[in-house]
Amino acid sequence: MDPISLASELLRAGPICDHCLGRRFAGLPGKLSNPERGFILRIALGFGQIPEERCWVCGGVFSHIPRWAERAAELAQDHEYKTFLFGVHLSPRLEATEEFLNERFPSPWAEPIRRDLNRTLGQALERLLAEKGRKVTVDFQRPEIQFLVDIERDEVKMQVNPVVFYGRYRKLVRGIAQTSWTCPHCRGKGCEVCGGTGKLAPTSVEELVLPVFLEATGGKAGKFHGAGREDADARMLGRGRPFLLWVEEPRRRTVDLAWIAEEVRRRTAGAVELLELQPATPELEMKVKKGRFTKLYRAKVLFSSPVSQEAFQKAISSLIGKIR
Ligand SMILES: [Zn+2]
Ligand SMILES: [Zn+2]
Repeated sequence: MDPISLASELLRAGPICDHCLGRRFAGLPGKLSNPERGFILRIALGFGQIPEERCWVCGGVFSHIPRWAERAAELAQDHEYKTFLFGVHLSPRLEATEEFLNERFPSPWAEPIRRDLNRTLGQALERLLAEKGRKVTVDFQRPEIQFLVDIERDEVKMQVNPVVFYGRYRKLVRGIAQTSWTCPHCRGKGCEVCGGTGKLAPTSVEELVLPVFLEATGGKAGKFHGAGREDADARMLGRGRPFLLWVEEPRRRTVDLAWIAEEVRRRTAGAVELLELQPATPELEMKVKKGRFTKLYRAKVLFSSPVSQEAFQKAISSLIGKIR
């Protein structure tokens, strides 16, 4: 069927708004928006405009979009973000109507209403914030904030995605674990094995650096992930070990990384150093999670009695290759 005949059938089936009429032809070539397409088809076929809430397809759902965009802006006003993404939870009525449309008025050019709503919401928020001089954009891959509109409940929910930092840490004293090491015997309650502390190492790099990141970002909680680990009683020298640090629900994403490094050094009296701090890119995240690194261990060995050169060489040669 050609677009004009299909549009004519749709218009005769009941009152339909320009958004919903145009959406059945979204895949046609050209750069028109759905309401523009709907408007042109409607005028060409000699139909008048209807109040949006009378549309039998959407019931006027698009007229709520400016309000939902405003609600989203309000929810996120205390958070720094440059990218976001909208999602919608369709009402059963909208789901059923779309199914009916696809069966009764199939169109090879139709766009799902969910996608139309997501995009229109995104554009509305972009415009709203642009008016206030802020540049935020929709990002499908890694949005900093996600909004979910529940149409039935007329509700907007917000999810603030974590901010991730990359860096390398050096541990200049012994006795610091990498992440907090809960005692496996008592699971943190405190027992004889752990001397009542609930932990097997008194402190960890994670426990020492995380509070500084939380302070800088205004985040609620976080997680530390090193590229491999060393024993708590080993130092970590050289260029340091790469790590990732996630902060959940951050209020600030652009932070003074030099201040964080300096503050960690100061609070730990130089026991822990952070190097090369930067926002984590997908490449850096992959490198830390999947990467293989060469490590150099230096050990000082003391013998309780003299050892012959021959026995020593034999012992050394057994250490070459993979140690199981
Ligand atoms: Zn409609
Ligand atoms: Zn214990």
